[in-house]
Amino acid sequence: MNVLIVEDNHDIAASIYDYLGALGYAVDVAGDGELGLHLALTKDYDVIILDLGLPGIDGYEICQRLRQAEKRSVPVIILTARDSLESRIKGFDSGADDYLTKPFSLKELAARVKIQYERVNPIPTDRL
Ligand code: CA
Repeated sequence: MNVLIVEDNHDIAASIYDYLGALGYAVDVAGDGELGLHLALTKDYDVIILDLGLPGIDGYEICQRLRQAEKRSVPVIILTARDSLESRIKGFDSGADDYLTKPFSLKELAARVKIQYERVNPIPTDRL
């Protein structure tokens, strides 16, 4: 599974990178909005973990521009400290599939990544 993390907090990005990497996932990290949008539009990812407050382009706009582009179906999980109802609704209106607030559990994030992946890529019956 290929995962993109768009997160400007280095410690958070590193902890997610390590956790998902230990599960065998291939992980890319973008520390700003410009690089995040560029990678999301040019590489194939199974799941994107997206912070909202980012230098350059914010997470809402990345999500909207992704949905307007041909990569419209890639699952996006917003991961943010913004916990207001308004922020959540705006996230879903931007096209996000899931919304998780900081502080968060790496175990829960990994479970959410997995279920998003499996919704797009059903497990072959011979592997059940
Ligand atoms: Ca941030």
